[in-house]
Amino acid sequence: MADRDGLIWLDGEMVPWRDAKTHVLTHTLHYGLGCFEGVRAYSTDKGAAIFRLKEHTDRLFRSAHILNLTMPFTKEQLNDAQCRAVRENNLDEAYIRPMVFLGSEGMGLRADNLQVHVMVAAWSWPSYMSPEAKELGIKVRTSSYTRHHVNITMCKAKANGNYINSMLALNEAISGGAEEALLLDNEGYVAEGSGENIFIYRDGVLHTPELTSCLEGITRQTILDFCRDEGIPVKERRITRDEVYIAEEAFFTGTAAEVLPIRELDGRIIGEGKRGPLTEKLQSKYFDAVKGKLPEHSEWLTHVSG
Ligand code: PMP
Repeated sequence: MADRDGLIWLDGEMVPWRDAKTHVLTHTLHYGLGCFEGVRAYSTDKGAAIFRLKEHTDRLFRSAHILNLTMPFTKEQLNDAQCRAVRENNLDEAYIRPMVFLGSEGMGLRADNLQVHVMVAAWSWPSYMSPEAKELGIKVRTSSYTRHHVNITMCKAKANGNYINSMLALNEAISGGAEEALLLDNEGYVAEGSGENIFIYRDGVLHTPELTSCLEGITRQTILDFCRDEGIPVKERRITRDEVYIAEEAFFTGTAAEVLPIRELDGRIIGEGKRGPLTEKLQSKYFDAVKGKLPEHSEWLTHVSG
């Protein structure tokens, strides 16, 4: 990844991709205290547009606030950096990765002289899952790892270190023959995937876990917005894993995963064992929205050409 042409925004300047380096004593590399975002830009009739940029930047600032990191840039500067990263790398579609991290001025948990750095990279990263997975759904395993408890690492921050838990769970699921993990909270209720929120559909109602132990997903919010527009009843509540087994439909949501049907959990087929009709409707509306084909939600798009 590090060896390619292009530009990365680092602390206010566009620098050549290969020169965007940090020292091995970078504090965040050692202890994981930093935060980041995963954002996507899609190709639209008016060129590349970033989906829900404001919401992603707001979450980045909330994450930094939770972690007690003082942001050295404004939201406007970060929004502009993300547009530049797409535009100046001539990308039509892009995955955008802003990150806030602590520098190498000191080491140890008490270090209080650390500088907060910010970077934004953008590259072409087509789809997290295959086109077949978007239609047929994926196979999921309940993880043996518990999702973070709110008083261990706080789940409202998209913190770098939180992803150790996600990667352990995902690696376990993949080595067990599944494609994604479903993590339960410390009381055994469904929380989320390694990098996705979850929804289940049963008896005319869509259900999704409350946000106690999961990230405030922006794709999750988009689905809730669609349900409000369409009058689809939604309940945010505690969900048990056997409720997922007996759901008519289930799907994950996330910027990387988009709207991804779940075909199977722990060897139990969910519904018809493929994308259900409501999932298909919401997925297709999501793709319309990100590609600028949903005029009623054009406010979600930021065109990078300005
Ligand atoms: N949960 C976790 C743990 C995640 O990493 C992500 C991806 N950011 C999500 C949920 C989904 O969030 P979003 O829809 O904002 O990408």
